[in-house]
Amino acid sequence: MAILLKGKEVSARIKDELKEETAKMKTRGINPGLAVIIVGDDPASRVYVNNKKKACEYCGINSYEYALPKETTEAELLKLIDELNNDPKISGILCQLPVPKHIKEQSIINAINPNKDVDAFHPVNVGKIMTGDYDFVPCTPAGVMELIKESGIDVNGKECVVVGRSNIVGKPMSMLLLHKNGTVTICHSHTKNLAEKTKKADILVAAVGIPNFITGDMIKEGAVVIDVGINRIAPKKLVGDVEFESAEKVAAAITPVPGGVGPMTIAMLMKNTLKAAEINN
Ligand code: NDP
Repeated sequence: MAILLKGKEVSARIKDELKEETAKMKTRGINPGLAVIIVGDDPASRVYVNNKKKACEYCGINSYEYALPKETTEAELLKLIDELNNDPKISGILCQLPVPKHIKEQSIINAINPNKDVDAFHPVNVGKIMTGDYDFVPCTPAGVMELIKESGIDVNGKECVVVGRSNIVGKPMSMLLLHKNGTVTICHSHTKNLAEKTKKADILVAAVGIPNFITGDMIKEGAVVIDVGINRIAPKKLVGDVEFESAEKVAAAITPVPGGVGPMTIAMLMKNTLKAAEINN
């Protein structure tokens, strides 16, 4: 039976530390503030935004929600971002994705001041992640790395396989593992003989978006399995991209869903917001 990598517990510890850090920053006259923009009424986005607001409250970070109707035009959204870029009480800006189809996602990402880009999606921050000299890291890969570190797992020299190459998870995840001297293989929907690749992994990260996609027979005995997937298969049932029951029999350590990577993502958002507050002060 694999050890559970409990992101919920680790993230609670991190948020406690961040709460203290925020209090100290306030004594220096720095008041961190996070602007969260949500366009439309996607229920999953609403849940994520509410969780982010709750985490801000817990850490003592001011949160400002901008809930816009789904008819909002790209120009209107860009105008709001411009105002927030210039607003000194806003340290970080986050636009919850996806935005409605008539708005170009990349235009929104490009409009956010890189120094307030707590999601680290702006091309400037993406470039910095490539070079390894960065201020912000996308919250999910950052959360995975923190969880790996906190669990005493050393990436150095390990075979790391990342399934998924999205800009938000797969690609930055691969870079972070590389910066820690992992030997990284990135798999995607065109990868041939996927199981052959995943079975070589000492550290396997699944970020695919398909429920129970990675099964126990695709995992090397004793591997560390990080399940980034969040898939709602029934109104109250979330599962990951890894089939937990078969995977935990083979893996040495595995993240549960929920309670694994998800809470770490939010803790890293808080961390990035404090960093942004320092940078913008
Ligand atoms: P995307 O849909 O953007 O990317 C999915 C990736 O999986 C793509 O690179 C795609 O390949 C690859 N893929 C799809 N099918 C296959 C296949 N059959 N074999 C191999 N690779 C395949 O998803 P995201 O990266 O945004 O998210 C992935 C998962 O993580 C989702 O479940 C999402 O909900 C979850 N998530 C969780 C977060 C958290 O906080 N825990 C935060 C963000 C996301 P290709 O590029 O070739 O199409």
